[in-house]
Amino acid sequence: MAVFRRSKGDDGEQGGARRRRKTVDFDAGSAAILDVQIGEWVGSTRPRLGEVLLELGSIDPDELLRALQHQKNSPSTEGAARLGEILMELGSIDEVALAAGLANQFGVPLADLHMLSPDPEAIARIPEDLARRHRVFPVHVEDGRVYLASADPLNTDAIRELVDHCQSIGLMIGARGEIDRLLDQSYNALADHHEMVQAFELSNASMGIEAETETFQVDENAPVVKVVNQVLTQGVRSRASDIHLEPGEGFLRVRYRVDGAMTEAIRLPSIMGPAISSRIKVMSELNIVERRRPQDGQFSVRVDGRPIDVRCSVVPTVHGETIVLRLLDKSKTLLSMKELGMIPQVEEPFLRLASSPLGMILCTGPTGAGKTTTLYAALNEVNDPTKNTITVEDPVEYQFEGINQMQVTETGFDFATGLRGILRQDPDVILVGEIRDEETARIAMQASLTGHMVLSSMHAIDSVSALQRFMDMGIEPFLVASAINGVVGQRLLRRLCTTCMEPTQPKPAHVSVVAEFTGGQQPDTWFKPVGCHRCEHTGYRGRIGVYELLVMSERVRELVVNRATHAEITETAIEEGMRTMAVQGFQLVVDGVTTVEEVFRSVYAPSGMDDEPLALGPGPRALEPGDEALPAGPPGIPAPSDPTSAAAFPTGPAPTEPTQDPVQPAAGTVPPAPAATGPFPQAAEPFRPPVVSGHVVPPPFQPAQSAAAPSDDHLSEDLDPGEPDSGPTATVSDLTARREASA
Ligand SMILES: [Zn+2]
Repeated sequence: MAVFRRSKGDDGEQGGARRRRKTVDFDAGSAAILDVQIGEWVGSTRPRLGEVLLELGSIDPDELLRALQHQKNSPSTEGAARLGEILMELGSIDEVALAAGLANQFGVPLADLHMLSPDPEAIARIPEDLARRHRVFPVHVEDGRVYLASADPLNTDAIRELVDHCQSIGLMIGARGEIDRLLDQSYNALADHHEMVQAFELSNASMGIEAETETFQVDENAPVVKVVNQVLTQGVRSRASDIHLEPGEGFLRVRYRVDGAMTEAIRLPSIMGPAISSRIKVMSELNIVERRRPQDGQFSVRVDGRPIDVRCSVVPTVHGETIVLRLLDKSKTLLSMKELGMIPQVEEPFLRLASSPLGMILCTGPTGAGKTTTLYAALNEVNDPTKNTITVEDPVEYQFEGINQMQVTETGFDFATGLRGILRQDPDVILVGEIRDEETARIAMQASLTGHMVLSSMHAIDSVSALQRFMDMGIEPFLVASAINGVVGQRLLRRLCTTCMEPTQPKPAHVSVVAEFTGGQQPDTWFKPVGCHRCEHTGYRGRIGVYELLVMSERVRELVVNRATHAEITETAIEEGMRTMAVQGFQLVVDGVTTVEEVFRSVYAPSGMDDEPLALGPGPRALEPGDEALPAGPPGIPAPSDPTSAAAFPTGPAPTEPTQDPVQPAAGTVPPAPAATGPFPQAAEPFRPPVVSGHVVPPPFQPAQSAAAPSDDHLSEDLDPGEPDSGPTATVSDLTARREASA
């Protein structure tokens, strides 16, 4: 049921009649009558939008003047809508204010779409293509009249066609973004998959299963083609970073990963499995007859007009081929440093480190922690026309202006090769998508020591662990200590859905863990996730990043050179001002932004929390002890195990995930069984915008761990050392002095 918001001036301050604005109705009595109705509607005199917005207090006279000036300079279209758009472009109003202004100007009700639960009866009255074509959302039905929210009340073509279809309509105004959101949410692309399944089964009965799979049809109307399109379309609309097609006994399960957590979308009969995997292989240009070996490919599609890059991985399992599709929305925009949501104590020193002329900055975390988002934001910040900036990425997912970007390929062109190439190109700033082997690490460190700023990422549970991972790779401690400026450890936590969250009684264990990490603080009110239509019944909506910054101070460098333990380095860093991810995560619990369960799931689960194993669901999680990223225990580098330290060590029980999940590739150098290594040998990390919902940077592919062992031959001699004293023989204090001199 629609909620009508009465706008200012609609009722008196007190005792005013609570009168509801009447909708403007159109009926299909006869063509002539409709023409008259539309004519009157378009022709009636109305106040100007600018005046209405002024009166509503949405803008001030200066803003109006500025917008009118802009309008004069670009006299392209007629008044109302255009002025509204200019005001939005100038940042004077948002969509909701524009909708309120239009509702007032046209004298029609404003549909409060923000809190609206879609009404199935209304949805059933307007077919999806019609609703999308005219960007209207059916809100409710009363006495046979369909009430529609539109952002463009003067679209007469829409009125005609809609009246033609449903006989009588009532017009309301809605904010455009809300209309789009509701359309995506209400018209499920998978709604008619049953029909496709039936059609498939019918055609199959006549053709035989093998025929279908061997001679794959390219008919765009074939049921299998349609089902695959529907699965992709709904995945994009659900904001999924990955789509999983998993054959089980008797069915093929389709799951989406949204905000890091998996949800089941549909189950298809397993008889469709081979045909679906053939279809996807054709799209990805893979060998369709090869069904015994893993294959990787990629393709591009347009979904609702948005260009989407899809990375595809096919892996044979006992019940058939498991397929994982990683979606990369190319229309998403870059986040700025501000939008990352770093706390000032982290952002300020991070920017200072990033703007120094040489050194290395690393972002660490598991797949899906948003490392690439951070690197891109940093790159955007430090890039300027006086610098030569070059990247080698996997894949290039955002194209910067004035930056030379390279993409690694599956055949021979890897990070190390690309990096060596870059160094012959006279760079100032270098971005290496990910460091996952000794060779790349060595070249990148040499580069940072020879006067370049190197930005990169690494799989490691936290900032201090990254240092130890380098040493596990075989890099000498003094090189690690001298090459690196700072390490960011990060995670994305799901935010509680503010529409449905409810107060709750905390568990005593939660009360104490929050107090322990936040210096005794407690939330005013404890909240729990509930689930509603806005959060797709998960209880969480959007994500927020937590970032810890390890600054390589003189003391930390010395500890590294002396192979100090993880706990020692962490302790020193905290003394020097580092706020760990766990501290920030629990602070968000105090602020009512997220839950203890969510912090446990993605950042830190104390080992004593035995009642919590199931809270650690799938999704972006912390690596576990036993994951390869943890120090395997060379002398002097014990595995972190102290749960009382403020370091973010997930020591809780391991959340189990299907082995096919590319979003969960364990980090590290010890390759698991080849097929399970992660479906994306060249994969990259999906990353979700930490802060701004609806403003998502496309998920890049996380390079899963390469199954190849680190190369034994050190290619540092391939490097052209820029300065003679910058090699491994330089001492820490030499390098520090140089760094300071050039800073
Ligand atoms: Zn909700």
